[in-house]
Amino acid sequence: MIHTLGFGLPRLGPNLEYKRLLEGFWSGLLSQEKLLAGLQELEGLRATAYREAVDLHPTGELSLYDPMLDLAVALGLYAVPAGELEAYYALARGKGALPLRKWFGTNYHYLVPRLPEKPRYEPQPGWFPYPVGRDADSGEGLPTLIGPYTLVRLAQNPPTSPTELQAHLEALGEAYAELLKGASGRPVLLQEPALILDGAQEDLPHLLRPYRLLGAQFPLVLLTYYLPLRPQVAEALAGLPLRGLGLVYEPGAPWPKVSSGTALVLGVIEGLSVWRTDLLRLRKDLGPLVEAGREVWLAPKAPLYHLPWKVAELLPPELAGRLAFAEERLRELALLKGLLRGEAPEEAQAWYTPPPTWDQSLPPPPPPRPPREVRRQAQKDLGLPPFPTTTIGSFPQTKELRSLRKRLRSGDLDQAAYRQEIQEAIRKNIRLQEELGLDVLVHGEPERSDMVEFFAERLERFYTTQKGFVLSYGSRIWRPPILFAPPRRREPLVLWETLYAQSLTHKPVKAILTGPITLAAWSYLPERVSFREAVLALAEALREEVREVAAHGIRVVQVDEPALLEKLPLRAEDHPGYLALVGEAFLRVVGDLEPGVQVHQHLCYSDYAALRPFLEAMDPDVVSLEGARQDGRFLEALSGLPLELGPGAFDVHSPLEAPVEEMLARLQTYLRHLPAERLWINPDCGLKTRKSEEALANLRNMVQAAQRLRELWSSSQGGPHADGT
Ligand code: GLN
Ligand code: ZN
Repeated sequence: MIHTLGFGLPRLGPNLEYKRLLEGFWSGLLSQEKLLAGLQELEGLRATAYREAVDLHPTGELSLYDPMLDLAVALGLYAVPAGELEAYYALARGKGALPLRKWFGTNYHYLVPRLPEKPRYEPQPGWFPYPVGRDADSGEGLPTLIGPYTLVRLAQNPPTSPTELQAHLEALGEAYAELLKGASGRPVLLQEPALILDGAQEDLPHLLRPYRLLGAQFPLVLLTYYLPLRPQVAEALAGLPLRGLGLVYEPGAPWPKVSSGTALVLGVIEGLSVWRTDLLRLRKDLGPLVEAGREVWLAPKAPLYHLPWKVAELLPPELAGRLAFAEERLRELALLKGLLRGEAPEEAQAWYTPPPTWDQSLPPPPPPRPPREVRRQAQKDLGLPPFPTTTIGSFPQTKELRSLRKRLRSGDLDQAAYRQEIQEAIRKNIRLQEELGLDVLVHGEPERSDMVEFFAERLERFYTTQKGFVLSYGSRIWRPPILFAPPRRREPLVLWETLYAQSLTHKPVKAILTGPITLAAWSYLPERVSFREAVLALAEALREEVREVAAHGIRVVQVDEPALLEKLPLRAEDHPGYLALVGEAFLRVVGDLEPGVQVHQHLCYSDYAALRPFLEAMDPDVVSLEGARQDGRFLEALSGLPLELGPGAFDVHSPLEAPVEEMLARLQTYLRHLPAERLWINPDCGLKTRKSEEALANLRNMVQAAQRLRELWSSSQGGPHADGT
């Protein structure tokens, strides 16, 4: 018996309906009634898309903002009376909003709830089944919830002892049972991706009882995805009274011995990549299972919201007929089911074409850069004052800049005119930074729409889609580019903008590049090419650029890697390999540089303990990190590292002006943990999302705080010239 199960079809809808509805409501253009009616309609559309392709699908996926928040509210973690959207959205995006975190190593985020101190939960039946789109599919969808284990593992305050874990899981088991009474008696999809994580095996004994309790009362389908379960975990789960056990299929691995009433829900279709699945091969692999008469549900290996809705544009020849987004993934399930039942329609036969070979032979990496002291000496002539000031790269992206890009795309503006405008923006940015008195300047990134897409547009073998939007969180969307062969530099990436900026000032200008890890992390990668291969190939393309930039006399180069920790592998056994990759990729990008070129690295994070080994491996001259939202003690995690550090003088995510005194106090805290000659002063990230006035006010205060700090410092050192000048 074979069925197909789709899940995670993008909330965005085929034409970004979701984004428009949410933003319409937030801006006051749409009433609550209209919002809910719109969502209901969208849920109807999604249900139709499911129904046309697959046998089974969830209902209630269309969150008002975030499914983790929905769950938290349904479990009574936050008091939100049913129907009070203002209170809900306050938790999602208001002043006291829950923190956002990346979800399972992807660029999709979730709101991180806090568990109650005491393991007591008060289920809110008004919030489950979820109030959105409830009746959109005439009661045929399977109710779905994120499961208790994933909730506790991903919370802000996960239990710290086995007893505490046990107590929470027991209480949650009861709370879920209460909520599920509202479900229709149909199989319930309990999504437990956390079961793939390290530690799940140790935690399992505490989980079996709650699962058993739920499984005895409801037809429970335990759904895991992203990675195959560890065999021991799969075996233990197979002994439960479940309606279905969902896991990523691994060719050749033994099947968990589920009982006859339990369906094997197999993740067989890709969910994180965009290449069509080799269905004929899968038919071969899965054949024996089907012949054995097992009840199998074919499913994707990941929720489909990591993909755009459907392939809806004319593709270049390299990609035509090779891509599958969410709708095509559903189609694949249907085709595979047909194949397994012995049908062999032409569409299924012709569905897949193998990829061209990835012919990238990498040159050897350069030798490590000379020791830090040699580099420091060679960089002295940059003439930087104590506590040098700089910014992270982007200046505010004004409406005018965005409209320029739109006009360029539509053909309304030609390249030459566009370039003129960009030059004008760079000129303004340089003038502003000189007036402010910053020390290391930037061109301001006016030409970049997005730090990955921009590079993808200038590299060959990347396809940047017109309509391939994916949800990041809330109503925030992005458009991942698709790498389909070894990347090549089509044209300089950052050269002319940087040189133009440098031509306008005597101060050093930093060339700013998105690093290879982030470029690979936020793109779709070629089929059968590992993350490692893609990263190193990208590093080589950047290496050429960096060499050229330096050959033109640029003295400071910055590599941005905001995705570094996000790509930390989910499993500890893969960490050493990742660390080595990060080190090698960085070396390939900057290792050819003369010691006199100062290499900066920007990382958005403040999880310094996790970063420490990476910083050691990369060994940049200067690192800028997030820090303005922490107290200075976090720097202890980096003590003893010889780096120069800019932990952030103000928080770029806040529209509020940070007064000079506040920044000064923060910088002084940093100095308790960092020798004075190694502190840099900068914002904690790019200024792209700020309004011009906001950025200006904070930069002005930052430069003043730096001046005050220099005065205080030199007087505490016994005079104005204590630094030897
Ligand atoms: N250079 C980029 C900027 O300033 C860095 C962005 C980031 O770290 N996310 O916008
Ligand atoms: Zn950043």
